[in-house]
Parts: sequence; C-alpha cells; structure tokens
Amino acid sequence: MNRLQNAATEARRPVPALVAVSKFQPASAVAELADAGQQVFGENYVQEAQAKLAELARPNLTWHLIGHLQSNKAAVAADLFDWVQTVDRAKLVTALADARATTRAPLNVLIQVNIDDESSKHGCAPDEVEALATLIAARPTLALRGLMAIPAPHEDPALRRAAFAKMKALFDTLAAAHPGVDTLSMGMSDDCALAVAEGATMVRVGTALFGARPAKG
Ligand SMILES: *Cc1c(COP(=O)(O)O)cnc(C)c1O
Repeated sequence: MNRLQNAATEARRPVPALVAVSKFQPASAVAELADAGQQVFGENYVQEAQAKLAELARPNLTWHLIGHLQSNKAAVAADLFDWVQTVDRAKLVTALADARATTRAPLNVLIQVNIDDESSKHGCAPDEVEALATLIAARPTLALRGLMAIPAPHEDPALRRAAFAKMKALFDTLAAAHPGVDTLSMGMSDDCALAVAEGATMVRVGTALFGARPAKG
C-alpha cells in the first residue's frame, strides 16, 4: 500500500509490516491478494480461519490471530496460527504454550493492551504487561514479539494519537527488558498513517485492501 510507504517516509520511520485482515472475506479473495504478493493475513475467529486455511491449502502464507481468543480454543489456535496478537491473560499464555508443538517454530505472541481502558474491550491493563511478558518469555514454545492495541475510535485525532503514543512508550520499555521484542501492532484502515507516525511497526488493514466486508455469514 502506497499510503503506508508515504506515511512512513513522512514520519521518517521504517515501513511497517502489513497484516491483511481477511475476516468475513472468502478464501478466493485471500488467494487473489496472495497471488498479488501479499503473504501475511489476519483472522478474528478460529473456526472461520480453520475452514479458510483448509480451503486455501497454501502453506507459505503467514497467519495472525487478531481476535479475542477463548481458552478452550487455544489449542486449535496454537496449531493453526503463526502469530497470536491477542494474549491478555496468564491462563491463555499457559494454554498456548502447552499446546504449541515443540517440533515447530515457537508461536509468535503479542500482548494485547486495553490502552483506553474501555470496559467493552479485551486486553490487559498497561501495568499488567511486564508480568505477562515474564510468563511468556519463560516458555520455549512461545516467542514474545511485542504489543498490540485497538485504541478507542475517538473522533478527535489528538486523542487517537495520544493512545498510540502511550503504546509506543510501553513498547519501548518492554523492548528494553526483553530481547526479541520488535513488533508494535496498531493502526487499521482509518488510522494506519497516524499509527505509523507514532511508531507502529505492524498495521492491520482490512477494508482498505479488500473493500467493504461481506456481512457475517
Ligand atoms: C477488523 C479488524 C481490523 C481491520 O479493520 P479495517 O478497518 O477493516 O481495516 C484490524 N484489527 C482488528 C483487531 C480487527 O478486528
């Protein structure tokens, strides 16, 4: 996406990794984007992803879980995905770490932070990040890679910017304490340029890539 390149150049930041969010999109739409060169995709629901991956049968794509994960689906997720971006509690760390096969590369993990302290949102509180990071770092089947957030959709761009800046500060603290932490996942179709300006290294974009999502099936 040229918009990302431009935003990065303008902010003098590296071009972020792009996760193409394919929730509710058919496998054929994913295949089309993959043929155009996009290798990294994000899904919100374990069951939907399971069906889509089976239909696609393309082993060289990389898959991120970006939706809330229930503990009872952790074993399936640990097998299906390359990254889980929504780790927000100790129970999930244990379930994912126990389920990931030791014969495979470690499962890449981001800690989801509820940066705007919204009661409607998943994610841990900022002051819970370090304890979770320590738990993750102790498990060889997991690789702690960084943080993820979905800030509140404030109308005021200054408020959105402030949330992204808070995430960047948390990320810098985490990266200083944990080698291997290199990923700050924030920014979606509407606000990815702003997120990149504030230091996102990964953005998650659906609508701007695929067009409007089909209604949920
Ligand atoms: C759906 C979704 C996105 C993509 O949103 P768009 O506005 O379509 O770009 C990104 N992140 C998460 C967590 C999502 O659920």
